[in-house]
Amino acid sequence: MNFRRPDIIRPPSEWKSYFLPLTCGCSNNTCAFCAYYGSKLQIRDIDDVKREIDALSLFMRDGIHLPAVPNVVYAIAQNWDGKRVFFQDGDALVYPFSKLKEVLKYVNEKLPSVERVATYGTPQDILRKSGEQLKELKGLKLSIFYMGVESGVDKVLQKIGKGVKRQEMVEAGKKAREAGITLSVTVILGLGGVEGSEQHALETAKILTEIDPDYAGALTLTLVPGTPLYEQWQQGTFHPISPFRSLEELKIIIENSSFTDCFFSSMHASNYISVRGKLPQDKERMLRELEAVLGIRDPSLLKPEFLRGL
Ligand code: SF4
Repeated sequence: MNFRRPDIIRPPSEWKSYFLPLTCGCSNNTCAFCAYYGSKLQIRDIDDVKREIDALSLFMRDGIHLPAVPNVVYAIAQNWDGKRVFFQDGDALVYPFSKLKEVLKYVNEKLPSVERVATYGTPQDILRKSGEQLKELKGLKLSIFYMGVESGVDKVLQKIGKGVKRQEMVEAGKKAREAGITLSVTVILGLGGVEGSEQHALETAKILTEIDPDYAGALTLTLVPGTPLYEQWQQGTFHPISPFRSLEELKIIIENSSFTDCFFSSMHASNYISVRGKLPQDKERMLRELEAVLGIRDPSLLKPEFLRGL
């Protein structure tokens, strides 16, 4: 089967990266809220990956376009500063370890200006590797993992089909950090629904504290047609929280978490309000910003639904 180049789904902070697909889909395609739900994982042939790196290298060095190379390669490359690469797709860290190393070595050789490579990885992808293997990847510039934590409540993780328990999530996060890899995690406001809201927020603050990541981002649940959670909402078995409740959850998380040095943000397109700052230093200021909005409860202060993204 021909490899299908995935759409670009990336963390907001990777906007300057070159998007190099190693896989399409996600190996853990069971998350009930996610657009990757039910996707079929494809592993890209390594020679195909190398051909794209060759074409990119030639373009960056001499501005040459090769006829057989997809236009998207040059569309991304023309605005690229040569410094960052993001491996697609939903969990490119599942790419077989020996091949992952080979691709990284090739990136280093052909694109020497690259400073860092990033990827989404599931906790399972991280736990499958030894500490030494993770250090090897870091040595080859794969230096940031984006991992979806989603919730600190085992019941919620199980219900959404995350495939791991909170303890495994914590172990994976710590393992990545111990290998010197920068860890950026996301949690999802509203994932516990109305009934589980308080527990979800409090336990999510706890798991973030335990993992103690370098970056933490809060997203707001967006119900995507075709996913099980959307169906549950339609059938009345999942009750989504209100936009203002999502801000209350955010406040609970910021209030109750404790970090060594973490950049925390709700800048993602799915959120109703953006707050950002370094924790612990900016905690009081961030809480004040949220309290100001929660005190007035004026819907016009929130991002309108049609502007919210996934
Ligand atoms: S592991 Fe991540 S990308 Fe894969 S289905 Fe779950 S949330 Fe989506």
